Amino acid sequence: MPLRLKVWIHFVMFIILVFVLMWIFQIFFLESFYEKMKTRSVTENAAEIVSSYNTDYKSGNKTEFINKYTETAIGNDVCVEILDKYGRSIYSKDVLGDCLVHGRENSTYKFLNEIRRTELPEALYKVSNPRGQNDMLVYICVLGSVRYPEGYLLINSELAPVSSTVSIIKRQLIIITVILILIAAGISVFLANRISNPIDRITKSAENLAKGDLNTKFDGTGYLEAQKLADTLMYAEKELSKVDTMQRDLIANVSHDLRTPLTMLKAYAEMIRDLSGDNPVKRNEHLEIIINETDRLSAMVNDILDLSKLESGKQKLNPSEFEISSKLTEIIGRFKGISEKMGYHIHFASDTEKMVYCDVVKIEQVIYNLINNAINYTGEDKQVYVRQINKPDGVLIEVEDTGDGIEEDKIKLIFDKYYRSENHKREVVGTGLGLSIVKAVLKLHGYDYGVRSTLGKGSVFWFRINDVTKM
Ligand code: ADP
Repeated sequence: MPLRLKVWIHFVMFIILVFVLMWIFQIFFLESFYEKMKTRSVTENAAEIVSSYNTDYKSGNKTEFINKYTETAIGNDVCVEILDKYGRSIYSKDVLGDCLVHGRENSTYKFLNEIRRTELPEALYKVSNPRGQNDMLVYICVLGSVRYPEGYLLINSELAPVSSTVSIIKRQLIIITVILILIAAGISVFLANRISNPIDRITKSAENLAKGDLNTKFDGTGYLEAQKLADTLMYAEKELSKVDTMQRDLIANVSHDLRTPLTMLKAYAEMIRDLSGDNPVKRNEHLEIIINETDRLSAMVNDILDLSKLESGKQKLNPSEFEISSKLTEIIGRFKGISEKMGYHIHFASDTEKMVYCDVVKIEQVIYNLINNAINYTGEDKQVYVRQINKPDGVLIEVEDTGDGIEEDKIKLIFDKYYRSENHKREVVGTGLGLSIVKAVLKLHGYDYGVRSTLGKGSVFWFRINDVTKM
């Protein structure tokens, strides 16, 4: 259902509800409301007069008392009569001109006798007035105490008929309802437009985005929620275009990185065919290069596959228990070949052996990548330091090199996919994926990780394996 219609329906429903409530209150309850109000007002008037009787009249200030009840009578349109203890009228104020109290049916004495008989301090009666058409409220109370009455107060108030009022109100209600429905229609169309216009605009832009236009603008002006939606979509668009650029960079990087070894493979294969085929020493040398390049190629392809698997979210952890010192020693051992051949030295400062529980294959890869980077980027002294530091709640692993270090603003970037710093002295072969794999694996485990780096001195990459037995 379109928004406009929905808003309109809700508005109309609201108005009908208001109308029904008003109808019920005004028409069905008006009479009892009115009577209750009148009753309350009469008893309040009586309380005021009684209090003036107790303070003013009894202290001899009769004028003040007379002023008070006259004022109350005029102010509230009621008749007031004061009787002495024998029931003789001593004061009265007849505001209505036709009250207090007529005929045998409603004589003052009838109420007087009634209150004497029941021995109540006060009573209220609703009676019909034989002279007028309207009903009357008659209130009577004892002045002094019930046992020793000093006098009586009578108040008489006319109950105006509500039926004529009701029919006026009915007409008014119908007119008001029609006006309200018209206004509601206007407001709902206006509101619905205000609500749906920005959404329509955003939807159009989103369609453009879906078609691949990464420069489309989202305009949510109108109200906060639409603006937020537009901002979120702008953000999504920015992220999408980042991914787009990254993908392009990846293809550029990968094809560049693939081309170098492929060129070498072709060159050495041609050399073997044309030149060194008959020379076993040379041929073996060239074949060795071909094998190395093939290894590098497959390592690269593996990196790309690993990362895409990790990032697809399909990769599940496969945790098991193992000894961390032995594992570190084993991984460092794998670099023995390159250490010996090229003069690198990996120092391992181990702590006491400790069992850890995590995905051994993936954590191995993290450690391997960190040591591999340290070797690639360490300084001329070719030293790399690996440390295992047992902590109360886990094991901290640090890999330190003595290289150039990483600039503060680059530290945030190096864990990004395909990020590779250009200004390294050595030509380091890599895809820019190693640290992204490290980050993805550690995040999947929920481990803390980070880098401390001093320019010119080197960097320490660290992560912490938490002590847990379940994942
Ligand atoms: P690759 O090493 O294949 O370029 P990585 O994701 O492993 O990709 O690293 C990304 C970038 O981080 C590297 O290009 C390099 O600039 C920087 N980097 C990684 N390790 C170190 C290190 N130990 N010292 C200095 N820079 C490093």
